[in-house]
Amino acid sequence: MKRKGFVLDVVANNIPYRPNFQTGWGNACLIRGPGCAVLFDTGGDGDSLLQNLEEVGISPSGIKYVVVSHEHDDHTGGLWAFLQANRKALVFAPASFSQAFRSRVRAAGARLVSVKGPGRICEGVYSTGEMRGRKWEQSLALRTAQGLVILTGCAHPGIANIVERCVRVLKDKPHLALGGFHLKDVPGSEIDGVIARLRKTGLDRVAPNHCTGASASRRIRAAWGEGFIETGCGASLTIAGASPPITAIRIPVPDHAL
Ligand SMILES: [Zn+2]
Ligand SMILES: [Zn+2]
Repeated sequence: MKRKGFVLDVVANNIPYRPNFQTGWGNACLIRGPGCAVLFDTGGDGDSLLQNLEEVGISPSGIKYVVVSHEHDDHTGGLWAFLQANRKALVFAPASFSQAFRSRVRAAGARLVSVKGPGRICEGVYSTGEMRGRKWEQSLALRTAQGLVILTGCAHPGIANIVERCVRVLKDKPHLALGGFHLKDVPGSEIDGVIARLRKTGLDRVAPNHCTGASASRRIRAAWGEGFIETGCGASLTIAGASPPITAIRIPVPDHAL
């Protein structure tokens, strides 16, 4: 079987990276994989999100799955404009999301999947399940020939906890972590502790953005050297080769079907 890869496009972020992209506080990443297109988070602003999706050459109707990491406006704010453009999308949200959010998704005509434990979203794309943090939050892991590519929204449950959980659940080595690491205003000694834990997992590459913070980013860059990838709004990463899907993981049941 020919192994295919993933293309990741950062379509919302507060860190400017490429001209023509609308930069604003928040985070979103488009995942194009062998079996599906998944939008992970939606940024804070719908118009910016839709413009950035156009910039990477995909229309909302071409994106079947939306995964929202946690219930903060800078990750869910763009969802409503997106659902107006594609009400057929399947929205994967942590089970702990508010009733108000759930009702609003259904009112938009979209279907909602409540995520509790780890599960498969589509070919090669897995959710960690909701993890406890300042907000309950899910992250994604992609199975690739290089190892796991881990995507975070804000990483409120702790970036080291998230990477360690992905390794434990998917039984593979971590290749890359991309997204918000939420280490803003965290003392240097604590940041060094997080870096040490991440290094211990064997994580090859890091691409921290969004809420990681300037001082944490400097320390992470120093620790990973060549393995540090600069990203921001409009950044595009190509990951070659997806591993065959595994089937041992429980798939969350769409709650609209219950
Ligand atoms: Zn955030
Ligand atoms: Zn947040």
